[in-house]
Amino acid sequence: MKRDYYEILGISKSASTDEIKKAYRKVAMQYHPDRNAGDKTAEEKFKEAAEAYEVLSDTEKKSQYDRFGHAGLKNNGRGGFGNMNTEDIFSQFGDIFGDDIFGSFFGGGSRGGGRRNHGVRGSNLRVKIKLNFEEIANGATKTIKVKKYVSCNTCNGTGAKDKGGVQTCTTCGGSGQVRKVTNTFLGQMQTVTTCPACNGEGTTITNKCTSCRGEGRVYGEETVNIDIPAGVQEGMQLSMSGKGNAGERGGPSGDLIILIEEENHQYLQRDGLNVVFDLHISFTDVVFGTQVEVPTIDGKAKIKIPAGTQSGKIFRLKGKGFPAINSYERGDQLIHVNVWTPQNINAEEKAALEKLQDAPNFKPQPVKGEKSFFERVKEMFG
Ligand SMILES: [Zn+2]
Ligand SMILES: [Zn+2]
Repeated sequence: MKRDYYEILGISKSASTDEIKKAYRKVAMQYHPDRNAGDKTAEEKFKEAAEAYEVLSDTEKKSQYDRFGHAGLKNNGRGGFGNMNTEDIFSQFGDIFGDDIFGSFFGGGSRGGGRRNHGVRGSNLRVKIKLNFEEIANGATKTIKVKKYVSCNTCNGTGAKDKGGVQTCTTCGGSGQVRKVTNTFLGQMQTVTTCPACNGEGTTITNKCTSCRGEGRVYGEETVNIDIPAGVQEGMQLSMSGKGNAGERGGPSGDLIILIEEENHQYLQRDGLNVVFDLHISFTDVVFGTQVEVPTIDGKAKIKIPAGTQSGKIFRLKGKGFPAINSYERGDQLIHVNVWTPQNINAEEKAALEKLQDAPNFKPQPVKGEKSFFERVKEMFG
């Protein structure tokens, strides 16, 4: 069972971006491998904190987590979070500790080569996916063509024409970092920063690939299969890691963000997990009782309308609503009975009804055992 991300960082749900960063810095320092050599528990806590920060520092992932918990983050290509390796974590450090602080705190930036950037990360892409009620209730796989940057086949994404086209950066000697010593109020500090000549890549391209003009990617198209879990809702966002634009010169790809849209149903309406259907039925049918067919999310269902059913009665088809995305809960279908009042009647119909006008059983009277409108509204809407 995964721990709550806010709990891991020891912050509240309302924590600001700055507070999240500060909290992570504190926890990461405490459990950093350099300070806890060989301590497995510390290593786990270190990774756990990195994962929490990865999610909570990303607006999109955070809102997905806030709304759906860990389940909301499951649907990405790599099968969820928690797969960060140590290199991922250290590359994340660059952003929040700043290269210099990292270097001076943890043994003078000895991690050097391991933290070199590889190319430039591709940007995220967004697509909208429209789903009908049946697809939302059962989950769906959608195959779409995404126009985007894809890795260049000619150079394998490196951007160089041939092996000789890539040269070690002369400014940093290939480490991707440059160091300098500065004097601060804390004493002398060695600072390590990203090499400005190669942008931290450690290499420069002298002979560019002609297909992609050295970018390592070309504009193209990819067919993507998107697995959509059952129970999604209008406005929800799923993210598929690595399915966005390809990075430059072998950099990691961005993510594909999928925005869910709900198609309207011809007869049914959604109310949270419930499905609502307005049934219109004739006066004689409710007097005699009948059986009617009603549409449901998947196909039709027969329901029995007992003789004497009052207008406004709500029948419930248990479990015929939508599933919840992160629990086994499932909504119902509610069938609202509306007795149809004829609006145009001919002379013959009029004569027949006039005979019944004063009939003793046609006088409205309190219904035994039936809840009042007020009680039902209170029950449904709280
Ligand atoms: Zn190329
Ligand atoms: Zn360089």
